Amino acid sequence: MNVCTINVDNGMAIPESSHCDLGAENAIYCGDGRVAPVNVAATDITPAETQQTHTNEDRYAIAISLPDITAQDYVTDEEFQDMYRFLVNDELTQNERRNRVTLLLQDQYFLKGDLLFKWSLPRNKREHRLRPVAERLCIPKMFRHKLLKHFHDNLGHFGIQRLFLILSYRVYWNNLLKDIQEFCHTCDTCLRSKMNFGFRSSPLHPLPVPNGPCESYSLDHEVLSRPTKRGNVAVLCVVDQFSGWPILRGVPDLTAYTTARVVFTEVIVPYGVPFLFVTDKGGSYCVSFFFNI
Ligand SMILES: [Zn+2]
Repeated sequence: MNVCTINVDNGMAIPESSHCDLGAENAIYCGDGRVAPVNVAATDITPAETQQTHTNEDRYAIAISLPDITAQDYVTDEEFQDMYRFLVNDELTQNERRNRVTLLLQDQYFLKGDLLFKWSLPRNKREHRLRPVAERLCIPKMFRHKLLKHFHDNLGHFGIQRLFLILSYRVYWNNLLKDIQEFCHTCDTCLRSKMNFGFRSSPLHPLPVPNGPCESYSLDHEVLSRPTKRGNVAVLCVVDQFSGWPILRGVPDLTAYTTARVVFTEVIVPYGVPFLFVTDKGGSYCVSFFFNI
């Protein structure tokens, strides 16, 4: 069983100086830069022991297991079989295009025992300071889902970016980020527990559509810039929502009593009792309005 170590304090970036041999069971990188020996494989750690590890001085690190990969797994793997056969036996395929890719990328791969590794080279000086050269274990397709599940579940259901930072430093396969995205988006625990804070709009409650005229009216006031000669300070606007027919009357004030009196004489008496009044007035205003009607 191979054991790799993850610094859960900052998400990744185990220094090269503490980089442990994946083939030898091994060491844990502590948050303060020390390397503590580990005598058990990750799968042998009981929950109680794991808890004890976290509460002690090694609480910044967690041991994660990598799969046991054999040479046969690489030979039968769709992605790595060409490179593996070339590095082991100098074999090339009958396909010129695949051979060209193998020859161009051969410097990026190397063997350590039966395991195939790929160099991860920083693309610029800034990345070199943050993440030096790393040896990434090539993972055949048959192990990928199990490995993603193991890392994702044991690291507290990390999100896409954090999980990618951790895995891309240790393992390699094509479309690693895409597979992580698919896995995180379909994790049942994450879907149930992680709240989507970006979704903040409230559901809409559309008003009922009237079936004919004089069923529902909208009410509002248009306040005038100055009082009229008759002492009116605003215009009460009552609009039939079905036909759009407006009823406009000047009012001396904006009180619920005055509004109710105008609505009763101008709307209810000539056209009947409507089904609905729609207004943006407050609750107390509406109570007083219907009380006076
Ligand atoms: Zn999850």
